[in-house]
Amino acid sequence: MVRRVAVVGAGVSGLAATKWCLEEGLEPICFEQSEDVGGLWRYTDQAEEGRASIYRTVFTNSCKEMMCYSDFPFPDDHPNYMHNARVQHYICKYAEHFDLRRHIQFKTLVTKVKKCPDFSVTGQWEVVTQRDGKEETAVFDAVMVCSGHHVYPNLPLADFPGIQKFKGCYFHSREYKEPEKFRGKKVLVVGLGNSGCDIAVELSTVASQVYLSSRSGSWVMSRVWDNGYPWDMLVITRFRTWLGNILPRALSDWLYVRGMNRFFKHENFGLMPLNRTSRKEPVFNDDLPSRIACGVVVMKPNVKEFRETSVLFQDGTVQDDVDAVVFATGYSYSYPFMEDDSIIKSRDNQVTLYKGILPPQLEKPTMAVIGLVQSLGPIIPTVDLQCRWAVKVFQEKKKLKGENLKQPLFFLSSVPRRYGSSTTLQTDYIAYMDELASAIGVKPNVLKLLLTDPWLALEVIFGPCSPYQFRLMGPGKWNGARKAILTQWDRTLQ
Ligand code: FAD
Repeated sequence: MVRRVAVVGAGVSGLAATKWCLEEGLEPICFEQSEDVGGLWRYTDQAEEGRASIYRTVFTNSCKEMMCYSDFPFPDDHPNYMHNARVQHYICKYAEHFDLRRHIQFKTLVTKVKKCPDFSVTGQWEVVTQRDGKEETAVFDAVMVCSGHHVYPNLPLADFPGIQKFKGCYFHSREYKEPEKFRGKKVLVVGLGNSGCDIAVELSTVASQVYLSSRSGSWVMSRVWDNGYPWDMLVITRFRTWLGNILPRALSDWLYVRGMNRFFKHENFGLMPLNRTSRKEPVFNDDLPSRIACGVVVMKPNVKEFRETSVLFQDGTVQDDVDAVVFATGYSYSYPFMEDDSIIKSRDNQVTLYKGILPPQLEKPTMAVIGLVQSLGPIIPTVDLQCRWAVKVFQEKKKLKGENLKQPLFFLSSVPRRYGSSTTLQTDYIAYMDELASAIGVKPNVLKLLLTDPWLALEVIFGPCSPYQFRLMGPGKWNGARKAILTQWDRTLQ
């Protein structure tokens, strides 16, 4: 039986892992290489090796009611979308509230995780850690990998001919902190993801000109949705998901494109995604359309070639006197501490993890990779539920007998085909959450609710699929869940 669990990393995933291990009577030891909890949300002026690095002005894309831990709502007076410092404060409060810090060994780097020689019988792992230059080895019954997925920059310079000749400066968005040093400069930002858009908009307040280059366009959404309510509280609902699944594909696609264009018509702004009906994660930026409309950000297609001081784009246009290039080209997944990293197979996003969590080829299901799945939903509730599921599997409370572990994530029954093969980590938020929740008996039983508590049932069906829904019933039920759901709009308005 699993007893001792090693948790790698004390970001939001590592804290959820530690908490759920404790709730289930396991003995977690969480190893965190840095000096505090928070992971990505703990802003520092300099990027630290092995830890995600954000720019000073990162705000959340998910609102407070949707992105909290399932039994720990954000304080009432917090705004709906928060600056990274507030999220970090919340994460620290969560760690304090559940007394998690005493299970964390800070400034301790996990350098190696390998199977014990008798793994096929025991499922145990040897974990090597380093602290103050001192190395220690310990054996654990299970490992939860919570080391983050926004750490190792994807900088595909080979795709950009002539970059070696370019005389200006260029760097990955991971290195970007604030705009001041680009005052009066001409800057090209490559990549239309959340970071690329944020950085382009921020630079446009000081730079003389910003160009934003995109290979395939993207839907750009506003955080502020109908009547000014948070987008995710209106969009991520059970009713909408159900409607999307039963409507004919053509009608559902038409409604989707119409919804995405309600903020502004993407075609007119040079932002139209090449694959318009793909449910690829959209970008959230309230300011980009107006920056484009004001001409301070100019949209450009893919870069064809860099020259000494200029850039040639695919459409034949040339921009002269470019001073700097920011490559907002995303991240690759890497687990340098895994002795055999084919256990978490990760090549060009082709990760094969059962339920997006378990490496399928292990003889014993004693390793969980937390937080790798992407959906149009918030990460904290996702990792919270992933940890609950994983801990049940470790304890064999959730039997995997008869389940085909080789079934990788992108064959999950919940993943609609429309995501296509290039985004295999992408999944539908509610379908994925429900799949995990059903497996461990915590999916809200809507029919039962309709009969016993109709007011709550209506909010569960038509209201936002907030994290509290997965604490209403079954193992791990939280007594505050009902109230949290019925008061979520009050906190939003406040
Ligand atoms: P991290 O936060 O990256 O934490 C991993 C931790 O593991 C770090 O503390 C690191 O030091 C530690 N670690 C790594 N390797 C080792 C090792 N070998 N030994 C010991 N410790 C180790 N998600 C949302 O839901 N909403 C948002 O609004 C949102 N905004 C985002 C904005 C930006 C700019 C980015 C980049 C991401 C955003 N995300 C958002 C996604 C974000 O990844 C998650 O919110 C979340 O922070 C991931 O948490 P994590 O714990 O999995 O990883």
